Amino acid sequence: MEATLCPKPHFVVIPWPATSHMIPIVDIGCLLAAHGASVTIITTPASSQLVQSRVDRAGQGSAGITVTAIPFPGAEAGLPDGCERTDHIPSADLVPNFFVATTKFGEAVAQHCRLLTATHRPSCVVAGMVHTWAHGVARELGAPCFIFHGFSAFALLCCEYLNTHKPHEAVESLDELFDVPLLPPFEFKFSRRQLPIHFQPSSSIPQDRHRELREFELAVDGIVVNSFEELERDSAARLAAATGKTVIAVGPVSLCGAPPSLLDLRASSDDARRCMAWLDAKKDESVLYVSFGSAGRMLPAQLMQLGLALVSCPWPVLWVIKGADTLPDDVNEWLQHNTDGDGLPESQCLAVRGWAPQVAILEHPAVGGFLTHCGWGSTLESVAAGVPMATWPFYAEQFLNERLIVDVLGIGVSVGVTKPTESVLTGGGGGKEKPDVGMEQVKQVLDMLMDGGVDGEARKTKVKELKAKAKTALDHGGSSYMNLEKLIQFGA
Ligand code: UDP
Repeated sequence: MEATLCPKPHFVVIPWPATSHMIPIVDIGCLLAAHGASVTIITTPASSQLVQSRVDRAGQGSAGITVTAIPFPGAEAGLPDGCERTDHIPSADLVPNFFVATTKFGEAVAQHCRLLTATHRPSCVVAGMVHTWAHGVARELGAPCFIFHGFSAFALLCCEYLNTHKPHEAVESLDELFDVPLLPPFEFKFSRRQLPIHFQPSSSIPQDRHRELREFELAVDGIVVNSFEELERDSAARLAAATGKTVIAVGPVSLCGAPPSLLDLRASSDDARRCMAWLDAKKDESVLYVSFGSAGRMLPAQLMQLGLALVSCPWPVLWVIKGADTLPDDVNEWLQHNTDGDGLPESQCLAVRGWAPQVAILEHPAVGGFLTHCGWGSTLESVAAGVPMATWPFYAEQFLNERLIVDVLGIGVSVGVTKPTESVLTGGGGGKEKPDVGMEQVKQVLDMLMDGGVDGEARKTKVKELKAKAKTALDHGGSSYMNLEKLIQFGA
């Protein structure tokens, strides 16, 4: 009798359309493919090139991955042409429209999955946290559904505590501190203002959407995190206990696939070429890298205080600035005079106004410290590269990540920011003129990061130990490797 061939597991991966979310979830798709699964990544036309380039980066591991672009019904929901990602939303009042378009997009994805069933039935769905309809799609397919937030397990554990115990609802002001008693012996205090958007009394996301998001979290079969078990103490296990769900840590996913070779990078874009050539001319661990994620923008007055600190510090600085086109003329002129955009090898402060090759920068031997907004992608990339951090959280779950970096892991030093930066999603983005953090405060912290004596050495040692553990986690038999195998079993 002939043996029946068992079809490969078929994962449908549906990224939430935000650049920094797409990067790790597509990498998860690549890891699943490298572990033998067929993977269909569903995206929209404006993002398909980004997704495909990420898939191509995985090299041979990308065999078995199909990238499918389904039109995004933005116009039907009143969005401007080409607005297909959260980073495209021009103003806070259009955020509800984006959610309407996302729901309609879900109907088209469900239809596509029905068609896929005819050839190779999807056997597991992994969806971005805002695709609340993905659970219905998975149920119709008879497949399990996993959620991917892009958050650390620690931040998710905090969120679960907040959802269950609601300490933020008992405070009298947005700045009153309250305890979040997780991971003893550490003591964490946060103000409501510092929490992710769904715990704020008001935001540009409608309340019924917040309810849907929570229902989706409660309905899914499990949670995939871009992290590794050795990193966040027992946050993943505690999260599993608190939610009653399977929690699968498969990171750091930035280490999957071949990093683009320096040769490729030099050829890939002007910005990449400039950065790498400039770094090559610097001494080992001498450079301070400054970047605030895919979208983090500082208000002009705050940016000036940061700029004054950066140009007066003794270390070479590589500074990535987003939204430079919206800065007032006088700030742009100041930047022009005080930083170098051409990347002359002898220059002290190189400013990049476009997209910087962050993973390659962090891995360059010249980089000795990272001033970061504590986005989880950046945090994990810094850990994977063994680079200590100075922490300047902007918004979302970044204040939670800061405590993990500084208090729990001891690999960062805090700038001391207490209030979030305004953004389109929080309903702000207007013109608060007074900077929260002065130039002297920034300089002091950068001194501690780059030239931090015994404490600085301890931070470096700890982050290098974590770098080694990160690599081991993804190697054959490591914790993330084994967790990937476990995830594959859900689709078997
Ligand atoms: N990133 C990059 N170049 C840039 C800005 C960002 O490669 O110029 C990447 C970075 O490596 C990370 C992601 O974008 O993978 C940012 O994610 P994170 O979670 O740190 O922050 P977010 O953008 O969500 O605020």
